[in-house]
Amino acid sequence: AMITDSSGNIEYVNRSFERSSGYSLDEVRGKNPRIFRSGQQPPQLYADLWQTISRGETWRGILCNRTKAGESRWECITIHPIPAREGTTARFLAIKEDVSAQRQVEDELRQAQKFEALGVLAGGVAHDYNNILTAILAHVALLKRNATLPPEAKDSVLAVEELSRRAAALTRQLVDFSRPQASLVEPIDAAALVAQLAHLLRRLVPDNISFVAHPPRGTLFMLANAGMIEQVLTNLIINARDAINGAGRISVEVSGTEIAPGEYHRHPDAYPGRFICFRITDTGIGMDRSTQARLFEPFFTTKLGTGNGLGLATSLMLIRQQHGWIDVTSEPGRGTTFRVYLPEAETRTKSAPRLAAAAPGGGTELILIVEDDRDVRTVIGVGFRQLGYTVFEASNGREALDIYRNPELRIAGIVTDHLMPGGINGVELVRLMRQVHSQAVAIICSGYDRDRLGHSGHIPANTTFVPKPVDVLALGGVLRRLLNAVAADRARADLKPVRSDLAARFR
Ligand code: ADP
Ligand code: MG
Repeated sequence: AMITDSSGNIEYVNRSFERSSGYSLDEVRGKNPRIFRSGQQPPQLYADLWQTISRGETWRGILCNRTKAGESRWECITIHPIPAREGTTARFLAIKEDVSAQRQVEDELRQAQKFEALGVLAGGVAHDYNNILTAILAHVALLKRNATLPPEAKDSVLAVEELSRRAAALTRQLVDFSRPQASLVEPIDAAALVAQLAHLLRRLVPDNISFVAHPPRGTLFMLANAGMIEQVLTNLIINARDAINGAGRISVEVSGTEIAPGEYHRHPDAYPGRFICFRITDTGIGMDRSTQARLFEPFFTTKLGTGNGLGLATSLMLIRQQHGWIDVTSEPGRGTTFRVYLPEAETRTKSAPRLAAAAPGGGTELILIVEDDRDVRTVIGVGFRQLGYTVFEASNGREALDIYRNPELRIAGIVTDHLMPGGINGVELVRLMRQVHSQAVAIICSGYDRDRLGHSGHIPANTTFVPKPVDVLALGGVLRRLLNAVAADRARADLKPVRSDLAARFR
């Protein structure tokens, strides 16, 4: 409680006021309560307060005040005017109650509801949008093949294609954000992952920014999903890059750390245990407090015109799905550090040799890629060859069947587009192939939702759908899992060895 004179100067504060504000009675006596203001609320609020009590009425409201230590506190405050009586002057009595904790719970709840509502909305829109984009891209592919197009029309077609791809990338992000996919977490060697991602991430950064990635000392395994980690690191590196004007430096460091019981209050999502911490530091423009308070909000961006504000919201969601959390420290003008915490895997010794060996998703089988877009086909082909596979390419269903029917080849897996010119779509192609021999696993890449494709007919066995646009590394992982799943059958089939010079003929 606090008592002021008729012009608002403090005459008395009680013990509980001293405790909650951090000021002693001697320090505030004679001062104006203005000294408690946090500056987070508009001046009209105080004007209204003063007018109300000057009229002799009681004012009640919530104010954000600052303690002596500089912390903000939300307080529910009631101010009663005490009229002058014989021998006394008019005074004001203020009684306050700290409601910071309630405010915080309310904020979190509101945030959670916002996420949920946006998720539903975004998912619904993105789904239809993806279908439209896939159709646009299919028409663009048809146009590109048209030899009679005048050159300036060709340029426009290419521009439409590029813009549609960008729209597709954005849609993909919306879908990721709205529909958390059942994530496969497995023990991952942090050093191997960093080594693998470093060159990918480096390509996001222009030459005027130096980029360093330090793997952890010693062996560290985390329980995570490699595809998701890649996505999160990509988002964080892009943000770091965007924050640097001119020269600068971005570093990625990985280390093991322990959160002791009693120490985890430092972050609301933290809990005790052993964790792997990714530290992404930049020397960019940094962030002020108000940006820091909002940066994980969906659609919050300061990059007007270029940002979509989904990078961090999505990253946070992905990390939470893997039972981790993200911490940020930043100073305007000096730079920013993001820390991503993921649980350490306990099965260190057991999985170390296996995971350290081959690249995840790699293999040596024969794979057929069916895709009418040459650029996409080339990208997937190069990626798969790097993973160790022998790759054949076909640009439509007919070509694909010719290769597949070749008795000297035993194609172990096909990766096919769904919508292709030539009258055979991906689902049909897989069905026709299964009539030849049924060992091959199939991945159908489609802009359509798995559910919708499912309604259009039976999904062939050992077939999976991957939404477009595709990510080659992720595709490799999916392929490997399918191949492993049918490994037992294939062992029984006693395959003929394949001559590698034959493979070369079909490139
Ligand atoms: P977007 O990058 O599309 O704006 P994000 O969700 O990735 O959306 O980021 C939200 C906002 O957070 C950015 O607009 C920027 O203001 C701020 N931000 C994120 N990372 C950094 C960083 N490393 N340095 C400075 N500001 C950042
Ligand atoms: Mg971003």
